[in-house]
Amino acid sequence: MSDQTGHMTSGEFKEHGYAMIDWIANYMEQVEKYPVLSQVSPGDIYNKLPEHPPQQAEDMSAVMKDVDEIVLPGITHWQSPNFFAYFPANVSGPSILGELLSAGLGVQGMLWSTSPACTEVETRMLDWMVDLLDLPKTFLSSTDGGGVIQDSASSAAICAMIAARERVTAGDVNKIGLSGQAQPLAAYCSADAHSSIEKGARIIGVGSQFLRLIPTDEDHRMRPEALEAAIEADVAAGRKPFFVAVTLGTTSCGAVDPLPAIAAIARRHQIWIHVDGAMYGITALLPECRWINEGLELVDSYSVNAHKWMLTNFDCNCFWIRNKEELISSLSILPEFLVNKATESGAVIDYRDWQIPLGRRFRALKLWMVIRHYGVEGLRTFAREHVQQAQKFAAYVEADDHFELMAPHPLTLVTFRHLGGDAINERLLDILNESGKLYLSHCKLSGKYVLRMAIGSSKTTEDHVDQAWASICQAAAQAEIELS
Ligand code: PLP
Repeated sequence: MSDQTGHMTSGEFKEHGYAMIDWIANYMEQVEKYPVLSQVSPGDIYNKLPEHPPQQAEDMSAVMKDVDEIVLPGITHWQSPNFFAYFPANVSGPSILGELLSAGLGVQGMLWSTSPACTEVETRMLDWMVDLLDLPKTFLSSTDGGGVIQDSASSAAICAMIAARERVTAGDVNKIGLSGQAQPLAAYCSADAHSSIEKGARIIGVGSQFLRLIPTDEDHRMRPEALEAAIEADVAAGRKPFFVAVTLGTTSCGAVDPLPAIAAIARRHQIWIHVDGAMYGITALLPECRWINEGLELVDSYSVNAHKWMLTNFDCNCFWIRNKEELISSLSILPEFLVNKATESGAVIDYRDWQIPLGRRFRALKLWMVIRHYGVEGLRTFAREHVQQAQKFAAYVEADDHFELMAPHPLTLVTFRHLGGDAINERLLDILNESGKLYLSHCKLSGKYVLRMAIGSSKTTEDHVDQAWASICQAAAQAEIELS
């Protein structure tokens, strides 16, 4: 048992720690055998946990027994090779070890001085990512720009919006609040942009009403001419356009907004351009897919999720800004208890000024471990295989007269539907997901219920994709019979 202080002894920690690594390794080996979508009902897990905390210390083995018996049935297995829902959130051995090391070191990296390595490894990793993804050099830390790890693309968008708001109001909103603004601010994104942009508009005080959802073309990409018309209408009505979010890979169908055309318009009107590459920015790992980066040299901020499709555990959003001073001056408040010589020297980065919370974990460790373990070539091979699998899947859909493809699918997300209408597609999805064999999700495109096949789990192979297609065809036949 524990020592007299109640702490786990070093010996116990080693024993349970090794057992935990074994547990995780076994889980990763066997993840395919579990139903992908958890089959529990609401309240099942909660009700299995005791109403009150234990009065006396319990043994780890008792906790792990409950992990097996109570927690595991309530897990939807995002790491299953048969997980094709939403978006990938793939992980890897080196990333998990990086998380463990971060937890073990337990540092708070809010200031450079509270753990210089936490800041400097992060800065170097964000520079490495510029190199890996062939991003504009203006994002490198050695320039006016730089990068930071955020917890999520949502936070990155909010930080960009705050900096944009302060730019257009010359720092006024931070000083005197929105009530000091004679002109309402207006922001823009495509009607298919992620909801985090609208959430951001609400949080920063712009409001949903002044976020313009710009219509999209037949491929679900923002229409530049509609953007320009909306900006001009706002200016004519006395509002101040200040922010446009451009999406590289919409969540619904992976549409890539025409960044160069949008950026030209936004620059003409002096509007901050933020690019949300949460879903597909990582594609630029592949030299043959670098078309995704077109126009990035024109933008003010850019965000990419390594925690979706680069083998790095959530949370690890990479966020770059062209002019870091605009971000820092928008977010920095220096209370006396944080004053320190390193900050005063001006020679260091204090990442607390680049994000909303004060505290921050040593998230760069997992990214460092992933990049070093796989190397650039390993990461490319991983991503390329998923793109090829998605193309194979799309070819199956295209060749089958029961189904149709619903949007261009150059990368890893394929949207499709059974030609029988919404009801049959809804039933088909339920049959699939209740089977536990695989997990897909849906979206609506042009008012139609559409199935989404999002490929990108760490262990998905062509065989899994073939099996998924066979299961989809089988479920379609069942749904046809049931609804006939
Ligand atoms: N933007 C896009 C295009 C996304 O697909 C997602 C997640 O699905 C997000 C933003 C939000 O990501 P996060 O969970 O990192 O905030």
